[in-house]
Amino acid sequence: MTETRHTRVLIIGSGPAGYTAGVYASRAMLQPILVQGLEPGGQLTTTTEVENFPGFTEVQGPDLMIKMQEHAQAMGCEIVGDIITDLDLSKRPFTAKGDSGTTYTADAVILATGARAKWLGLPSEEAFKGFGVSACATCDGFFYRGQEIVVIGGGNTAVEEALFLTNFASKVTLIHRRDELRAEKILIDRLMKNDKIHPLWHHQLEEVVGENDPKGVTGIKVKNVQTGEISEIPCKGVFVAIGHAPASELVKDQLELHNGGYVSVQPGSTATSVPGVFAAGDLTDHKYRQAVTSAGMGCMAALDAEHWLAAQDD
Ligand code: FAD
Ligand code: NAP
Repeated sequence: MTETRHTRVLIIGSGPAGYTAGVYASRAMLQPILVQGLEPGGQLTTTTEVENFPGFTEVQGPDLMIKMQEHAQAMGCEIVGDIITDLDLSKRPFTAKGDSGTTYTADAVILATGARAKWLGLPSEEAFKGFGVSACATCDGFFYRGQEIVVIGGGNTAVEEALFLTNFASKVTLIHRRDELRAEKILIDRLMKNDKIHPLWHHQLEEVVGENDPKGVTGIKVKNVQTGEISEIPCKGVFVAIGHAPASELVKDQLELHNGGYVSVQPGSTATSVPGVFAAGDLTDHKYRQAVTSAGMGCMAALDAEHWLAAQDD
């Protein structure tokens, strides 16, 4: 349906940053509209236990995000299942086009589009995506019951994915290009104590090997980065967990960016290079990238938007 809707504050994104902005903007009586995007609830919907969000000793990521959505809704935030495909920040009111056909105009915009999984960029990885190659253990782990699988990466995500996948797989090989993990110590400790997990240090994925009828992975070729030696590992699943890149496509030619695509904000603020446009969460933050820091920035963005709008009305 084609329609145009105006709002004081348009929030783009439904992760911890977006929903927290929704709570605060609603309580400031700004009647925000929040557009959820392709991944309602954001990155935490792709994980299981979250143990470091204050107030929850342990909570499932998807459950936490449902609670945040319900909280924003209860405060009066309108939540819309749509994807913004085009955003014009060159004049006010700002204009955002939704995939649904709806056009949103807004006096202020809060960008909270977060980050998306990175891929290695190998042709064979692309060829077997969805047929044995995945970036989401929570989504796809169940398909590998009793199978051997590999996880690529050495950060929190790779270690958590490897641990989670031991619920299904007979063996998990964690392949890391160095011999030091950058994951939290508590996670490394669990990894090292798990008999099903076999770390393979100083190696990188060279090629995913598989067959086409039926289409599926049968193994991988890995290279020892110290000796150059290539070896093969049989496996049915390949989980790529090498980090995330900011989802700044909508604004890359309109806002100042830093560190290869993160939206720049003024120090101690969420104000971007365009007045009236604020950014929060993983979209701006190449350093902390946590649910709680994203939520904190979502709060800041709503307060910054409220103050900026009040100043325009004076
Ligand atoms: P995201 O959660 O990335 O959400 C982005 C939102 O923007 C999504 O809703 C998406 O649909 C929306 N969006 C994107 N583009 C558009 C568009 N064009 N139009 C409309 N909407 C759009 N952090 C922790 O603190 N503890 C943990 O235990 C933890 N575990 C993690 C496990 C995994 C597997 C991963 C991947 C991350 C984990 N993190 C954890 C990090 C945490 O998930 C992120 O820091 C946090 O989700 C970032 O929140 P955000 O609101 O900035 O964005
Ligand atoms: P990350 O911390 O950026 O780690 C990425 C890992 O992948 C690194 O070990 C890196 O190797 C490796 N890597 C990157 N590019 C590679 C390539 N081309 N080939 C091979 N290996 C490659 O990413 P993340 O683990 O997804 O974490 C992202 C953020 O979310 C972090 O801030 C993290 O703390 C947070 N997070 C938190 C939790 C939690 O709190 N429990 C859980 C998940 C994520 P090098 O080490 O050699 O650089």
